[in-house]
Amino acid sequence: MEDDQWKKKLSKEQYRILRLRQTETPYSGVLLHNDKTGKYLCGACGQTLFDSSTKFDSRSGWPSFNWPVNKKAIKLSEDRSLGIRRVEVSCARCGSHLGHVFNDAPDQPTGIRFCINSLALDFKEKKIRDNLKKSRG
Ligand SMILES: [Zn+2]
Repeated sequence: MEDDQWKKKLSKEQYRILRLRQTETPYSGVLLHNDKTGKYLCGACGQTLFDSSTKFDSRSGWPSFNWPVNKKAIKLSEDRSLGIRRVEVSCARCGSHLGHVFNDAPDQPTGIRFCINSLALDFKEKKIRDNLKKSRG
């Protein structure tokens, strides 16, 4: 998608994070304390990225996950901005910036913290209805 199309599709704040690769203010995200069961999707293209079962409270101020739903859904690349080496996490489908990944979560089964901007995500709650539909076949 062209840049002006992203500008039209996304809110100003989402655009700043997803397309200009900025970081939202810590503790500002609406999904930070979301503890509902469901899936977290790319805020730009809607691809499923994370599951609520991997979300944890890292006390960093950003939604944190210990693993993506599928390694192919995300793209990792080196980020040398701010004079430090970090690993940037982007959506593999649309290339939008999501956040960074750190090796600093020893309390998690994976030891890894995907530190993701709330504004880069959409949340799709899993409804009890969905389970009923499935069990009916
Ligand atoms: Zn995407």
